[in-house]
Amino acid sequence: MSAEVIRIAGAGPAGLATAITLARAGRRVQVHEAHPTVGYRFQRDLQGLENWTTEEDVLDTLRRLGMATDFTALPCRKGTVFDAWGRAYIVRSHAPLFYMVERGPGPGSLDSALLAHAQGLGVEVRFDSRLDQVDGPGVLALGPRTADAIAVGYHFDTSMRDGFWVICDDALAPKGYAYLLVMNGRGTLKSCMFTGFKQEHIHVQRTLKAFERRVGLKMENAQPHGGVGNFRIPASAVSGFHPVAGEQAGFQDTLWGFGMRFAIVSGVLAARSLIEGIDYDALWRREFEPWLHVSLINRALYESLGNTGYGWALRRQAQVGDVRRVFRWLYRPAWYKRPLLPWARAHYRSRRHDASCDHVDCTCVWCRCGSEYA
Ligand SMILES: Cc1cc2nc3c(=O)[nH]c(=O)nc-3n(C[C@H](O)[C@H](O)[C@H](O)COP(=O)(O)OP(=O)(O)OC[C@H]3O[C@@H](n4cnc5c(N)ncnc54)[C@H](O)[C@@H]3O)c2cc1C
Repeated sequence: MSAEVIRIAGAGPAGLATAITLARAGRRVQVHEAHPTVGYRFQRDLQGLENWTTEEDVLDTLRRLGMATDFTALPCRKGTVFDAWGRAYIVRSHAPLFYMVERGPGPGSLDSALLAHAQGLGVEVRFDSRLDQVDGPGVLALGPRTADAIAVGYHFDTSMRDGFWVICDDALAPKGYAYLLVMNGRGTLKSCMFTGFKQEHIHVQRTLKAFERRVGLKMENAQPHGGVGNFRIPASAVSGFHPVAGEQAGFQDTLWGFGMRFAIVSGVLAARSLIEGIDYDALWRREFEPWLHVSLINRALYESLGNTGYGWALRRQAQVGDVRRVFRWLYRPAWYKRPLLPWARAHYRSRRHDASCDHVDCTCVWCRCGSEYA
């Protein structure tokens, strides 16, 4: 074991994946988590671990990266998507399109599995420990820094069968989508919107009514829940000497907000950069920057569709048949997509500007959180 302790700020998937990779390489690791549990901001949120960006199954990818996969993961091969006029389209795929997982501190959740794995490897996790400064070697994995999109709705108990349902309608979720996920008697209902945040309550109420009407939504013990997502392709994901992993760096699928896979992969890469002394920026660029570019292009295209365009896209995918194949094509980097990148960059701008440095231990003179502005 190397004697020097490596500190990680944040016990989300990015921070825990970093910790696991470092501990497996024999490093001493300390994770600092601001909240009393893992997954605090999610509680019992149901989320989708996407399985379309690579041919390899995402659970095999996680195992190959040395991550625990002993969390509850429901393979989702068939669901229903509605257009704005209530027309239903069945989406199905041969291999799982995504795995439904639970977030938060509960048994079987993704966060609990990663935490147990890290602790089993000897990682020290300090809860209620907000890091304002990272001295010495460390990794920053603090989660989103601003709201480029928000997902707002409810968690609840339900007698509905397991499954997923989606509505593409700008009146419910402007430039985004409304969704309902059910697994093992628990449900998550969300309006995931990319604009119109000030009307979030109206969008949530419309989403609720639409799912009641279309699929007979039944909620018991409903608890309001919401969160933010940050999408950005950074010029550099190194802050001072520290690699920045996961959503703190802005790594996330810009089209629909699938960030867990990027968080874990970037955490592994951040650890490797420390273990092997490799440039972290070079690592993440090689590993997934082309996918970030394509997701940015997809977002710009999606935003220009509107309700009529969403309906057209749903009809087209129904003709192809296997929706995972459609998504594989949609997300695959290709030379003929590259000319769209400047247009997509101009069309989509993260609300997060580099006005602050995003350092945990800011001593910069130039940024907004620094002393010059204070
Ligand atoms: C409502 C919602 C639904 C989503 N659905 C999906 C989905 O279906 N599929 C998908 O792939 N992604 C989804 N995402 C995105 C995904 O959850 C995130 O991209 C992912 O959790 C990012 O992981 P992370 O480790 O980078 O950040 P986080 O999971 O946010 O973890 C960061 C951790 O750092 C801690 N922290 C913050 N500041 C400090 C500090 N100063 N000191 C110490 N600790 C600190 C936080 O408490 C937190 O535990 C969703 C997001 C939201 C909000």
